[in-house]
Parts: sequence; structure tokens; C-alpha cells
Amino acid sequence: MNDKKKKIEKELKEIKDKVLACKKCSLYKTRTCPVIGQGNHQAKIIFIGEAPGAQEDRTGRPFCGEAGKILDELLESAGIKREEIYICNILKCRPPGNRNPNKKEIDACVPYLERQIKTIKPNAICTLGNYSTAYILKKYGLGGEIEGISKIHGKIFSIDNIKIIPFYHPAVAAYNPNMKSILKEDFKLLKKYKNII
Ligand code: URA
Ligand code: SF4
Repeated sequence: MNDKKKKIEKELKEIKDKVLACKKCSLYKTRTCPVIGQGNHQAKIIFIGEAPGAQEDRTGRPFCGEAGKILDELLESAGIKREEIYICNILKCRPPGNRNPNKKEIDACVPYLERQIKTIKPNAICTLGNYSTAYILKKYGLGGEIEGISKIHGKIFSIDNIKIIPFYHPAVAAYNPNMKSILKEDFKLLKKYKNII
């Protein structure tokens, strides 16, 4: 393992240990396992979802339930393997009943995400749904672009040598074939550009 890789592994291990012991918001009380993140530690593309669901909470793995199946299908349609990318969430612990994350929880948890991004240094960040999109656009000074995911899905924002690509959250396609078509169409963009990302 070269030095760069060693440093990344060390950082990610530290983040993992911190999250496993985290009590910074009340979600630690109801979680089973925190979901830290999974995938290639030197990924060029990071996908950021919202928060773990029931299945993720049981296994500690991101997007392993119903939404994950849809994400897998979308990735496959874009010719991307899960092993190539890194997947994590805004919140590392599941909100009870899958309710929306609140501001207090997001503020408490995002330092972990920040550190994951800083460590992995991706060339592109794909946000899934409103929460991660709003957060990431704001972080990169593009807060003015936040018009809701319905207006900006499938667009590429370039800033600070990084590309930000917002998508609808795959869960919206679970009962809505139209949304799945839109997601598939948007993922074509990734297929087109992934070699230059
Ligand atoms: N939905 C998310 O946003 N993240 C997961 O990990 C699973 C479902
Ligand atoms: Fe800590 Fe984040 Fe879990 Fe809250 S959601 S307890 S901040 S790891």
C-alpha cells in the first residue's frame, strides 16, 4: 500500500470509529447500526443519499434495501459498478419511521460527510434527493441554484474542480415508473461523462 492510500485508510478508519461512538444527536438512541459509507476509498465519484432506511439500519450498509435495488439498476444502466464509487448519506443514523432529517441532526452529522469528501477527494459528487442536493450546493457556494430537485436534476454544476450532479432520490421511483424513466435519462449523463470525470 502506498503512502497516499495508507493515509486515506487511516482517515476513513478514524471517521468510522468516531461515527460508531457518536452521540451528537438523538438518533443514536434508536439506531441499530450507523451506516458510515461503502465503496471505493479512492473513488472518482461519490454518491450521497439522505439517511439509512430500515434495511440499512440493520446491516450498516448504504442503499441495500428497496431504494438500493433501484440505484443498482440505474448504475448498471450507466455502466458503473458499485465497487468503482463510494456511497454514503447525509445522516449516518436512521431517523425513526424514516421521517425526514431535521436541521439539528444534519448540522450534527455533516462534519463526518465533510471529512469523507475531503479524504476521498472525488472529481464528482452525485447527490440523491433534496437533502443532499441542497447541502452540497450550499457547501460549494451554489446555494443560489437551489430551486428544488425538480428544476435541477440531471444538470452538471462545475465548481472548484469538482462536478456536482443532482438526481432525484431513487426511492421516488419505487412506485412511479415515470420517475424511473426520468432517473434513467439523467443517469445517461453519467454514462456519457464518466470517462472524463
Ligand atoms: N435511502 C437513502 O437515502 N440512503 C440509504 O442508504 C438508503 C435509503
Ligand atoms: Fe452522530 Fe450522525 Fe448518528 Fe447523529 S446521525 S448520532 S450526528 S452519527
